[in-house]
Amino acid sequence: MNPTARDRAHALDAADPLGPYRLRFHGADGEVAPGVPLAYFDGNSLGRPPIASFERIERFLREEWGTRLIRGWDESWMELPFVVGDSIGRAAIGAASGQTVIGDSTTVLLYKLARAAVDAQRAGDARRTEIVLDRDNFPTDRYVLEGIAAERGMQLRWIEVDTAAGVTADQVAAATTDRTALVLLSHVAYRSGHLADAAAITRIAHDAGALVLWDLCHSAGSVPVALDEWGADLAVGCTYKYLNGGPGSPAFAYVNAARQGELAQPIQGWMGTADVFAMGPEYVAARGIRRFISGTPPIVGMLAMQDTIAMIEEAGIDAIRQKSIALTEYAIELTDAWLGPLGVSIASPRDPAERGGHVTLMHPAMRELTALLWEQDVIPDYRDPHGLRIGLSPLSTGFDETWLGLRAVRDGLASLA
Ligand SMILES: *Cc1c(COP(=O)(O)O)cnc(C)c1O
Repeated sequence: MNPTARDRAHALDAADPLGPYRLRFHGADGEVAPGVPLAYFDGNSLGRPPIASFERIERFLREEWGTRLIRGWDESWMELPFVVGDSIGRAAIGAASGQTVIGDSTTVLLYKLARAAVDAQRAGDARRTEIVLDRDNFPTDRYVLEGIAAERGMQLRWIEVDTAAGVTADQVAAATTDRTALVLLSHVAYRSGHLADAAAITRIAHDAGALVLWDLCHSAGSVPVALDEWGADLAVGCTYKYLNGGPGSPAFAYVNAARQGELAQPIQGWMGTADVFAMGPEYVAARGIRRFISGTPPIVGMLAMQDTIAMIEEAGIDAIRQKSIALTEYAIELTDAWLGPLGVSIASPRDPAERGGHVTLMHPAMRELTALLWEQDVIPDYRDPHGLRIGLSPLSTGFDETWLGLRAVRDGLASLA
């Protein structure tokens, strides 16, 4: 079959064991309705709403908030950050219970965990004054660490990376020394989609006596993560990307059980204390993962993500990864056939073993093209310099959708030439 024929996309959809999951997301069932995108390539930035969440949210409003009112805190809400955290641990990030919690935004959780880590490291050895990170990490990760370095009189040790690839284990080995307190990296790079060798990097950092904080924003829900198996110390991740929690839904934090007792996070709030309602004269950190939360848990923000976490657990992250690889391989095939001749290059790893769930396409006209595509209800996003990011959220994206979207990229580029 001609690799670019639409029939092939239909055949891939028909053979996709996870294909029926698309029907469980609003707007993803291929029905054409006004304003509903023809192709949504941004599920890695803001996932689609699960249909089950409409009912879950309405039921919550009527039956829990509306009826139980403040009694809801005693009944289930207080435990929700831990219950949902454990379910993410189980379904998506390879974490045994008691180590994952829903907290604040990714940015705030990065700050809390990184500050706790560097303080503990320096208390153990005052010479550990460096934090290793890379130039191409997401801005918030770099900014938070810049702030911590200034606040604590530490130095940032930057790894320079190829923006079409990502950080390698060798680069981390060269950057970590007996002065390294912490290594912070993204498991899947937000720009290129590069998938880091987290097991090897964690080992290398530990051999140098450093702690590792993994940013899982573009991993959780799309690629298998094995925090316990890697022996990772810390991790944070978004829930509004592949976990479909909705705009601004709160992030999760993972703290390895072996590290919890030695880490003190800097936003000491009443919800992180041993006995929340004792309201005692001073802060006493709770034992366990509770100490990493600060204020009142964002209950409403934890509703929609529960439906996607349940789907991930049901489908299995390994099957999701297979679908994800099939989607990115298909996107690369169509790009080579249709877009290569128009001057588009691929700024993502070609080896699926080194690639997460998205592919970035480069061409000088991509900024202009993005605006044109959005007008046609084809929704990728634009990343400087000249990158069109094609996010293919595995449970909610289809092959025909990918075909339609990339055909629009081809036709749009041709019209701009
Ligand atoms: C999306 C993303 C964030 C977002 O942080 P927020 O605090 O939710 O705005 C942070 N880091 C990475 C690597 C991301 O991809």
